[in-house]
Amino acid sequence: MADCIFCKIAAREVPGHIVFENDRFIAMLDIKPVNPGHILIIPKDHVEVVFAMDDARYAEAFAIAKALSAPLQRATAAKRIGLAVEGFGVDHAHVHLIPLHGPHELNPDRAKEASPEDLAAMAENIIQERTRSL
Ligand SMILES: [Zn+2]
Repeated sequence: MADCIFCKIAAREVPGHIVFENDRFIAMLDIKPVNPGHILIIPKDHVEVVFAMDDARYAEAFAIAKALSAPLQRATAAKRIGLAVEGFGVDHAHVHLIPLHGPHELNPDRAKEASPEDLAAMAENIIQERTRSL
C-alpha cells in the first residue's frame, strides 16, 4: 500500500532496524520500544490486521516469533519474552515481541522513543545472537 510506513520499510524504501528477513516477513525494532529490544514481526504483503493473514502466514508469523525469542532473550538478558497483538498504531499487521524483566511491563503506555544509535546497537546485538543460535 502506497502510504503505509510498514510497506515502505519492508520494501526497503524507508530504513528500519531489521533483525530478520525472509521472502514473506521482516522483523524490526520498534522505534518506540516498551522495553529495549522490542521487535515487530511484519508480513511484507500489506494485510491490515494479524487475523486477516491466511493460515500459513499466520503460523509463520508466530514461528518467527518463537525463533527470535531465544536470541532476543540472550541479547537483552530479559526474564521472559512477551508476545502481543493490538494493531492500533499502524494499519499493517504486526506482532509485538517484547523483552520483559518483570510483571506488568507488557504495557504500551511504557513505550518511549529510542535513539537511532541505541536501536542500531540493539539490532546488531540481536543479529549476533541469532547467528550464534544457528
Ligand atoms: Zn502496509
